[in-house]
Amino acid sequence: MTLEPSDPSAGTRPAEPAEEPSLVRCARHPEVETGLRCGRCDTPICPRCLVLTPVGARCRDCARLRRLPLFEAAPRHYLLAVLAGVFSAALGAVALLFLPAFGFLTLLLYLALGYGVGEAVSLATNRKRATGLAVVAAGCAGLGALAPALLRLSPPLAVLAIALAGAGAWGRMR
Ligand SMILES: [Zn+2]
Ligand SMILES: [Zn+2]
Repeated sequence: MTLEPSDPSAGTRPAEPAEEPSLVRCARHPEVETGLRCGRCDTPICPRCLVLTPVGARCRDCARLRRLPLFEAAPRHYLLAVLAGVFSAALGAVALLFLPAFGFLTLLLYLALGYGVGEAVSLATNRKRATGLAVVAAGCAGLGALAPALLRLSPPLAVLAIALAGAGAWGRMR
């Protein structure tokens, strides 16, 4: 039997030596000791590698994995975004040129144009939420609003209308 019933040091020994974070070396920077680990894959990470995400600390790889499907856009997404943005903005511009004006309420139509352009771009890009795509959508909406706003509204309202169109698209994309 290996029982040691009367070992006097058994009860007084510090019980939890593992409680303080054991220092390991960063997976990417072997010269850096760290107590941090990626919350997903458990890779040791140093503060330089640490990426803070809404769900906690992540290593670069895991943070990128998480971002890729929704937040990163490939060049073809920009192409699709521009096509959808230009097409929908042109449609909206034609509609705004021929729709009767309702005075101040007409501004809501420009907001709707922006929203529509944002929706079209969002659909064309598989609902990606990249900032660059939102910029494309807002730019197309603003350009689409340009002609009807300048032709049909007084200058201060035209500026407001163009801004609203851009904001509508931006809001739809973010
Ligand atoms: Zn990781
Ligand atoms: Zn590192």
